[in-house]
Amino acid sequence: VNMILSGKRFESTASDFQKPDAPVEKHEYQAEVSRLMDLIVNSLYSNKEVFLRELISNASDALDKLRFLSVTEPQLLEGASELDIRIQTDQENGIITLTDSGIGMTHQELVDSLGTIAHSGTAKFLKALKDSKDSGSDSNLIGQFGVGFYSAFLVADKVVVSTKSPKSDKQYVWEGEANSSSYIIREETDPEKFIPRGTSIKLHLKRDEKGFAHPERIERLVKNYSQFVSFPIYTWQEKG
Ligand code: ADP
Ligand code: MG
Repeated sequence: VNMILSGKRFESTASDFQKPDAPVEKHEYQAEVSRLMDLIVNSLYSNKEVFLRELISNASDALDKLRFLSVTEPQLLEGASELDIRIQTDQENGIITLTDSGIGMTHQELVDSLGTIAHSGTAKFLKALKDSKDSGSDSNLIGQFGVGFYSAFLVADKVVVSTKSPKSDKQYVWEGEANSSSYIIREETDPEKFIPRGTSIKLHLKRDEKGFAHPERIERLVKNYSQFVSFPIYTWQEKG
């Protein structure tokens, strides 16, 4: 379900340096994703820090894909030859931003990846959920199977993904909120947010989870996970 909610179309004139806001497309999550999101958002699962492991592992996968493709298509590395992961904490505003210079996502890949359930781990999770009559075990299932990207909603009430694939000349923004059955996609038009390639994921932390934006906490977690990742991970803090 795609519809234009608001926004103006870009009509260029010679004096136009800034594009007007791109049209906003509203998409409904696949029913299974809505169910999963609901569960994650409202879960009492206590091991919320797994969100970082999931997002780092996605970034690492995206970098792996790019590295593999660049063997035969070295031009894919143009504009950003560094293959790395950067994690920025903004303690004042309770925001964590995780950026990779990996393969990124096209518009279609965004819809397919962050609106449906494609990967087997989450499919297994949903099956286990269906099979388990005791709903009290839901939160154990999160830990057992891992819930991938959607685990961001364990700690964030709003997630903004900005992504640029070398296959597309446009950069796209995906925006989802906890307790919503839909997400939006729009073209990135703010030049300050342009990245040459890859994906940036901004987590607006829930009121009770703002402690995750504490630089030392993130550094400690990153240190644990980084040993399983073959790309450098940098952390830094937003200065107020
Ligand atoms: P999985 O990693 O098991 O496939 P996830 O829920 O973690 O499942 O991610 C779903 C999909 O979203 C990934 O398979 C990938 O296609 C896409 N994706 C997520 N994060 C990124 C990223 N940082 N860069 C590119 N694609 C991503
Ligand atoms: Mg994953």
